[in-house]
Amino acid sequence: MLVSAKEMLQKAKAGQYAVGQFNINNLEWTKAILQTAQECNSPVILGVSEGAAKYMSGYNTVVGMVVNMIKDLNITVPVALHLDHGSFDHCYKCIEAGFSSVMFDGSHYPIDENVAKTKQLVADANAKGISVEAEVGSIGGEEDGVVGTGDIADPQECKAIADLGIDFLAAGIGNIHGKYPANWAGLSFDTLDEIQKLTGDMPLVLHGGTGIPLEMIKKAISLGVAKINVNTECQLAFADATRKYIEAGKDLEGKGFDPRKLLAPGVEAIKASVKEKMEIFGSIGKA
Ligand SMILES: [Zn+2]
Repeated sequence: MLVSAKEMLQKAKAGQYAVGQFNINNLEWTKAILQTAQECNSPVILGVSEGAAKYMSGYNTVVGMVVNMIKDLNITVPVALHLDHGSFDHCYKCIEAGFSSVMFDGSHYPIDENVAKTKQLVADANAKGISVEAEVGSIGGEEDGVVGTGDIADPQECKAIADLGIDFLAAGIGNIHGKYPANWAGLSFDTLDEIQKLTGDMPLVLHGGTGIPLEMIKKAISLGVAKINVNTECQLAFADATRKYIEAGKDLEGKGFDPRKLLAPGVEAIKASVKEKMEIFGSIGKA
């Protein structure tokens, strides 16, 4: 069974650790993340972008796969299925399909429109026990064709959105999606601190968790970050392990071409990445 991300993130914020959101792309990804969460006795959030959902056939397919995998693999840790960077319409599609959490990315709207849309979504989602993440200040880099410039969010705008009844808030503090450039300026902890002071108990979300140095992650958690999104890191690990397998010619040995063998090193690499992140975030044993 899926759970909303509300309770697990409130618990994380109170306990000064973070729950990882790991984006899924297919069955192998989903299985690797769920099994690792179970082995680590950690709560977990499965992130699905609109593009990844489309790739997997659609939201109903995703819900069917995740819900039934939880059943078949006897997963007992809390699992939330979360739409990542959703448009307003797609948040509703996910609620309809059975997601337990949605992120409305209204950061590109003027603040008044972001407020109005977020308010409506919160009312409709909360009525069904579905958690809502909102975003203030765009997050740099590219995600499914949405390019952000890496703003620093206005803490007052964060407060305005937080007061609408959302469950957790993503604020741009210089973080970006994908690999970080060599000249990256780092996270703005002063902004994060100010946002936390204004929003109180609200769990904060750090997007673009790939490649942020360990000390910065720890500091962000100490300043109220309770959810960290990881996507690119698992993709890089999967690709690297798969390339090594093929470059070593293992697909040409015996039945090495069998997808269950061909994809196995990549799956193990995802598992290792997820476990490493859970250790850093402090969510192990917190299910
Ligand atoms: Zn993001």
